[in-house]
Amino acid sequence: MEECIFCKIIKGEIPCSKIYEDEKAMAFLDIAPINKGHALVIPKEHHETFEELPDELSKYLIEIVKKISIAVKKATNADGYNIGMNVGKAAGQLVFHAHWHIMPRFNDDGLKTWPQKEYEEGEMDKFKEQIVKFL
Ligand code: AMP
Ligand code: ZN
Repeated sequence: MEECIFCKIIKGEIPCSKIYEDEKAMAFLDIAPINKGHALVIPKEHHETFEELPDELSKYLIEIVKKISIAVKKATNADGYNIGMNVGKAAGQLVFHAHWHIMPRFNDDGLKTWPQKEYEEGEMDKFKEQIVKFL
């Protein structure tokens, strides 16, 4: 936890382009943006992933994500934006301090969204049933 880069940013030990701060949350620009203005929203408390965030905190943070998204969109004149959260190494999470990405998007930015797959006959129902079991 000592090594967590986002905790260091919160403590002011590493500089960042801060755009928002309150008692529970912080937002700053991603150093390697998908498009310029790409922002990150983080809790001040260290939690590794989305799943570890206490519900009250994630509810609070999603309001901040919305507030920052609107500001990023206006400031960059974006046509839209993606909100994303990588959960786990397999999903591309590199920094294990939970964070939301807000990524401004432009009609002509040339970026693609997810590649998509197809279900075999009846497979979708099996996935549905499996998932519902865990709810
Ligand atoms: P993730 O892959 O979801 O864990 O994303 C981590 C993000 O943090 C990446 O998009 C990095 O570009 C960004 N990042 C890493 N270090 C810094 C930093 N010091 N300041 C701002 N953004 C950072
Ligand atoms: Zn941390």
